[in-house]
Amino acid sequence: MSYVLTCPNCGPREVTDFGFGGEVNPRPAGEPSQRELNAYNYFRRNVAGVQREWWFHRSGCGAWFLAERDTRTNMVLLTELPGDADEAPGAGGAPGGAGQPAGGAGGTL
Ligand SMILES: [Zn+2]
Repeated sequence: MSYVLTCPNCGPREVTDFGFGGEVNPRPAGEPSQRELNAYNYFRRNVAGVQREWWFHRSGCGAWFLAERDTRTNMVLLTELPGDADEAPGAGGAPGGAGQPAGGAGGTL
C-alpha cells in the first residue's frame, strides 16, 4: 500500500522514501523497575486508530520526525520535527534521548 508522507524539511513524498521508526514510546522516568523496563522494551500499544510514530527520511534529508497516522486508513494527520513537538528531546518522549528512536534505524515497512 502506498501513501504520501510530508517530510517537515522536504515536503510530500511517497512513503517508500521513508523508514518507519515505530510508535512513540516514552522512556520511563527515574529508576524504573524491571517490569517497567520490560514494558518499555517489548510492549507496544498497536492501536487501531491515530498513533504517534517516528519516521526517518531515508531517501531524502535524513531527518527523524514525528507523524500522527491513522493505522486503519494510513491517513497522515500531521508531521513535525521533534523540536516542534511536546515530546522534545530531554522531555522524556524521545527514545534515545537525541530525538531519534533507539534501534529504529533499520525499520522498514
Ligand atoms: Zn526530508
